[in-house]
Parts: sequence; C-alpha cells; structure tokens
Amino acid sequence: MVTQADVASWGTGASSWSILVHGGAGDVRADSVGAHVKGCERAASEGAKVLAAGGSALDAVQRAVEVLESDPLFNAGTGACLDSDGHIALDASIMDGKDLRAGGVCALPAFEHPIAIARRVMEATPHVLLAAEGASRFAVAQGFTPADEATMITELARKKWEAARAKNTIEGWAGGASTSGGTVGAVARDASGHVAAATSTGGMVNKLAGRVGDSPIVGAGTYADDEGGACSTTGHGEAMIRVCLAKTAVDGMRTTPEASARDAIALMLRRTAQTGGLIVVAPDGALGLARTTRTMTWAARTDAEQASGC
Ligand code: ASP
Repeated sequence: MVTQADVASWGTGASSWSILVHGGAGDVRADSVGAHVKGCERAASEGAKVLAAGGSALDAVQRAVEVLESDPLFNAGTGACLDSDGHIALDASIMDGKDLRAGGVCALPAFEHPIAIARRVMEATPHVLLAAEGASRFAVAQGFTPADEATMITELARKKWEAARAKNTIEGWAGGASTSGGTVGAVARDASGHVAAATSTGGMVNKLAGRVGDSPIVGAGTYADDEGGACSTTGHGEAMIRVCLAKTAVDGMRTTPEASARDAIALMLRRTAQTGGLIVVAPDGALGLARTTRTMTWAARTDAEQASGC
C-alpha cells in the first residue's frame, strides 16, 4: 500500500506562460544537490526567455533540454552513461500539444543534442521514432554533426560504468548517494495556450546494448496534449513504459497537476514497486511534480514567479 509519505510533491496555480524542468529522479548527495538545482535553474531561465518573448512551448522545452544536454553534470547528451559495450546510446523525445505531433530518437550514438534530432524527426519525417544507425544517418543527412564520443564521456560516467560492470549490474544513473544528476526533461505552456514536453537521457548505467528506455517513448517518457496537459518523466524506464506514465499523468489532470503527478507516480510504485518522478503542466499553465525517489532536482519559471528544489 502506497502512503502519502512515499510521495513528495509540489505545485503552482494557473499562469499565462510557465515552464518546469527536471534534472532526474534519484538519490543525489546533499553536497551535490546545489549544483544540480543551479543547472535546472539555468535551463528553466533559458526556456523562460523563449516564452517571455512570445515563443512557443515547443521551442522553450527544446531550449531548456539542450541546456541540460550540454551540462556534463546530467545523464543526457554530454555526460551520458555508458551501455554494456562501453558506448553512449542516447534516447530523447519531444511532443507538441497543439496537434499531438511527436518525434524521438533511441539508441542514438554520440550527438551533442539528441533532442534537436528528435524534433527534426517530428518535423521532417512521417515517423515518430528513429533508432540507432538509421537515426544517426538521418541526423547526418539533416546537417547534424556526429560528436567525438570520447569528448562526451565524462570521467564520472566511465567510473560508474566500471563499478556497475564489476558488480555485473545495471544501475539507475542517479542511484545510491550519487554525485550526479540524471535524465533531463521540461514541460511548458506558452502565452497562446499550447503545451509541450521534452525528455532526454543516456538511460541506465551498463544497460544491455540495444536497450531503449521510456524517455523516447511517447506516452511513457513524454506526452503533451493541449486538451489534457504535458508531462516528462524520469526513473525506472521499464516500469514507466509498463504503466504508460506520462499519458497516465496527463489523463489524470482532472484535479490539480500536483495531484495528478502524485497519483501517477504512486500508481507506478504500487503496481511495479519501482520509483521515479515526473513533472506536469496543465492546460491553464499550472505546474506540478511528484517523486518517489529521495531526490529529483527541478526549477520552474512562470510569468509571475520562480522556484526550484529537489
Ligand atoms: N528513465 C530513464 C531510463 O530508464 C532513466 C532515468 O530517468 O533515470 O532510461
């Protein structure tokens, strides 16, 4: 039985425009939390600039996620974790609540901004999700430059991979008194009333080569619908796929976004015994989040206020 104490949550009221970003659910060490919250604040500020200038929710969530993909503290883009072959394999997706268009990439080799490639899948193909080598070829054909993988692998990512291999385990990136943040994501509502969501990750440490998590899967890691709201999730990817976490949270937006986030993550804990967190925005711009992990760093900006935490 899941009790209220298992779920921590936060929320705001309605606003003309708003953005909420997360830096991954997990167990970030107390002495590292500040740096991760700062990373989230930078990302939320960049997204807020887009919204304050009258830009779209879609552009705002992409911008915010790109900031975090460039930040080596997080398990997305530069700093992403390594799979069982010792390679980076990136997952990302983005969705526009205006017309339910979505795009994603999964098991993508090293590129600096997988979220930008996911957006291009959405805009330049009739498809929703491209994988591995095919995704890479598409990206190059679209003018994206492959990164030198060695420059994207941080010392911390290599250490975590070596430790997981030594124990023969597959581990959540930000688990066990971690000094690092995890998966990144953003949800936003723009002044025209449209919502969008985006999520980007390296996945799990020492994941089997070819494994794809929830982050690039529409309805699991990311969902956006102007009629219901938008959501980005983080945590145990397999469990999130099994409960369609992002869509479950958006479908639950009948009360407050905070309550819907709480109910969705509590459902996942109750039915799968796995933990995580999620951020949501309602069609009226109200924000909410919930987590069953010890930490999930986040930052929010609206037309009237700003907040952050873990
Ligand atoms: N959900 C991500 C995955 O399973 C990992 C995370 O959010 O920490 O790939």
